[in-house]
Amino acid sequence: MNMVYDVVCGMSTEKGNWTSQSEHEGKTYYFCCNGCKGAFEKSPDYHLANFAEEHPGVDPSPQG
Ligand SMILES: [Zn+2]
Repeated sequence: MNMVYDVVCGMSTEKGNWTSQSEHEGKTYYFCCNGCKGAFEKSPDYHLANFAEEHPGVDPSPQG
């Protein structure tokens, strides 16, 4: 099963549990709430870089 991460607050869940989502550079990212989604859309690169630093090698949103 694919786990997806909310790159803003760092929470993870099974894909499908969260309905807040946002497209960024052709990928779909999922969020626990609209607050996190809004923060991501404001500065997606910042949050993605932050997530990568805290979770090396982890894909926050495995596709398919
Ligand atoms: Zn969140």
